[in-house]
This record gives sequence, C-alpha cells and structure tokens, in this order.
Amino acid sequence: MMTRRGFASGASAIALAGVVAGILRWLGGSSKAAAGTFEVTRTQEEWRKLLTPPQYAVLRDRDTERAFTSPLNQEKREGVFACAGCDLPLFASKTKFDSGTGWPSFYAPIDSAVKTDKDYAFGMVREEVHCRRCGGHLGHVFDDGPPPTGLRYCINGLSLKFVPA
Ligand SMILES: [Zn+2]
Repeated sequence: MMTRRGFASGASAIALAGVVAGILRWLGGSSKAAAGTFEVTRTQEEWRKLLTPPQYAVLRDRDTERAFTSPLNQEKREGVFACAGCDLPLFASKTKFDSGTGWPSFYAPIDSAVKTDKDYAFGMVREEVHCRRCGGHLGHVFDDGPPPTGLRYCINGLSLKFVPA
C-alpha cells in the first residue's frame, strides 16, 4: 500500500528500495539496466553522483514514478525533451499528447533516439523504452496511441529534461 509519507521516511524508503534492488542484483547477478553496450557508459557510483535518487531509480533501476507527479505533464511549450542521463534529444514537443494517464506521453520518438526491449516484470510482457545513447530506462511503449503512429510512448518525467525552443 502506498500511503502519504513525510520526506524523511520517503527518503529512507527509497534508500531501502535501493538496498533491496542491490541485493536482488547481487543474487541475480545482473543489473536491471538495459543490456548491451552504449556510447555513454558510467559506473553505478558515477550515475549516483550525476542523478538525483529518484532519477537514478527510474533511469538506472527501471523504477516508475507515481502518476501525475511530473511537472512535464503540463509542459506545452515548443522544444525537445532530452535524456536526463546524457542530454540526447529524445522527443519533440509536437509529438506530445495528453494521454490522461498521468505520465508524459508521445506518439513518436526523435529518429533513432530510443531503443526497446521486452520487459517481463509484474507478469506482463511490455515493450520497455530506453535511451539509445546511455541505456537509461525511460518508460514503455503501447499500441493504443493516436495517429499518425498509433503508438503511445508512456515516459517517466524524471527521465527527461525539457529544453525550450
Ligand atoms: Zn541517455
């Protein structure tokens, strides 16, 4: 059950989640980050210094931010949404639409900006989306989006930074 918590206990819950994820990784012998080699690679320690703990949880540990928490849901200016991990432009503002899901949603990424991977978490098969340059987890893509692609890239605002045109 998610309940409203104060900042301190929320932070320690995040720390505990990190410890648990670390133990699971140690037991499983692999990271949850996308497999393969990427142009931008950093150690876990370097990513931790570069990212805030919530950004790290999403980008490097495939966490999902709570719906309706990202200020980027309301972002309607012209510009690009770049990777919070490596600054690669990922989505153009003209492809953003209001999906009503509570996560920033796009019908298409910028050409060759993202890659996808099968995600078997939670007993479902979903198409995971990550940055092609640093492998950072962004969100998932579903086939119930609007024209012209019919795709819905459901992206964590924490994995993005908005750069106004
Ligand atoms: Zn990236």
